[in-house]
Amino acid sequence: MSEPTLESDYIRNKQRAFKEAVARVNRLLQQRVVPQPVLEPMLEPLAHLFANAWLRSEVHPRYLSAVAALSRNPEHAFLVALLTQQLDDRAFMEAHLRSALATPAEHPRHLRVRQLLAHHDHDFAQTVAAVLAQWQQSDLPPCADFQQAVRQVGAIEKSRYAERLDEDERARLALVDRLPDRFPTPPSFAKVGLIPRMACAQSCRHCMFVWRPVMRDLPDPTPLYKQVNGLTTQVLFTGGDLTPVMPQFYQAIRSMPRVKLFALLLNGSFAHDEQATQTLLQGMLCALQSRSKKAAVAQVVLQISFDEFHQEILADRQGHLSERIPVAHIARIVRAVSRMPEIKLSLLHKQNSLNFSDALFTDGVFERLQRALADMGESLQLLQVTQSSTTKRHPARSDHHAPVIREALMALASAPQSPIHWMSGTTDRYGRAAYLEPSLFINDQAQLERYLQGEAPTEGFDIDPMLWLDGHVSLFSASHITMGDFFQEPLAHILTRWRRDPLLAALARFDPRLLQLYRTLNKDGDDLIASASSVHHLFHRITETAHIRLEMTRLLAK
Ligand code: SF4
Repeated sequence: MSEPTLESDYIRNKQRAFKEAVARVNRLLQQRVVPQPVLEPMLEPLAHLFANAWLRSEVHPRYLSAVAALSRNPEHAFLVALLTQQLDDRAFMEAHLRSALATPAEHPRHLRVRQLLAHHDHDFAQTVAAVLAQWQQSDLPPCADFQQAVRQVGAIEKSRYAERLDEDERARLALVDRLPDRFPTPPSFAKVGLIPRMACAQSCRHCMFVWRPVMRDLPDPTPLYKQVNGLTTQVLFTGGDLTPVMPQFYQAIRSMPRVKLFALLLNGSFAHDEQATQTLLQGMLCALQSRSKKAAVAQVVLQISFDEFHQEILADRQGHLSERIPVAHIARIVRAVSRMPEIKLSLLHKQNSLNFSDALFTDGVFERLQRALADMGESLQLLQVTQSSTTKRHPARSDHHAPVIREALMALASAPQSPIHWMSGTTDRYGRAAYLEPSLFINDQAQLERYLQGEAPTEGFDIDPMLWLDGHVSLFSASHITMGDFFQEPLAHILTRWRRDPLLAALARFDPRLLQLYRTLNKDGDDLIASASSVHHLFHRITETAHIRLEMTRLLAK
């Protein structure tokens, strides 16, 4: 067998994604035909239209034949030949029906198409038009203009950020300030988030951020760090790609003596060579070593995104392949951190259909990582694997529910004393992810269904404070809810709102009253529930506008 290459990886990944997407749509069509038997003769044409549209939107023409040749079944040879011709919907459908009519009269395909024609006065053009109309009315066609759709998402996100501390938001905060202390809060927070920058050069297809507020020329954060030092013992730095603002992270380590855990989420793009990798990590070690002698013993937790989205293999217009963030970067980080006991590495992964079995660790991005490590003379060994406590719905086979692999500990064979934590989470339909092919990711819709039937969720909305270095204060789970601006009022005063705000308390326990309130204020509650990908996503969406948050707070405060 020949050595795997980027091209063979690309083809294999696309074949797997193609198979899953087609399996999802076939199942969906089978389910729809039960209440609508009239659809029966259209099942095959619609499923094949989807296969053709998926390939045209997802695979560079150079690799189309290789990806479409997935099936070796001679019965599918006509389909594989059609799928590689890059035909538009109409041309594909016409060719599809004609190829069936060219088979012997007793062939099942021929008979099915005759049946379809009989529904449309035996008129070929009318039959093609009817299938295409059914196709267009359905939710099956991939987004026709993804770039335009993303621009629209960006415009909505921009308008949401423009509402930060607008009239309604200020009225809400003024109302909260007039309320008595009602909710017990600990003297300090379990953690505090810090956003020194909100920018990223990547555009992962699942990313929740399309438009990000510009954060430039900000004042020295040292006074803020001193205050945070009194609020918590754990901080998390986040906000896209933080590589350009690493000095602020090092400074935080030096200036927060009470804090014991400094977590930082990076996408791994910094590790483009050995020297860059060492420079960034050594900066962390130096900062840890330069803490005052009286400071608490501290640890850095470096969180690195590592999944099929961040490490996606992309084809440019000419068909040249590259990895969004190369797996070799992750391999460099794994090897370097495994030799630095002061830094713990945590790989953050997005669940997909591979999470249902151990194939997760021998296929896809894991297999690529093992190969990159093997090139360095290293190998990764699994120490412990943990499954989810609840079942998840398979993204391509909606009738399959099972626990998924959610967490693992692993270590390089050469550094067994330095375990690497790996954690795999679900994906919600925020930002670009609203347009993701559903078979590509696992969501928590099953949990939402259980919640709507009365089951209490195991965890609520994370309302710990998130401090943006431009002054805004939001929540860990919700950048859209602004609690104040510490350049306009004292941070200590902003944080008193955690003791008074009935909306935060309701969000923290996914209070079902919020859903009822939303329904009294808006008519689209059912639509939001139907399109939500988790309880968290639903509560995020029902609190997205400042006006609704103000009204909800007024009603909850009564
Ligand atoms: S998911 Fe992370 S790396 Fe990807 S575009 Fe978003 S912020 Fe950047």
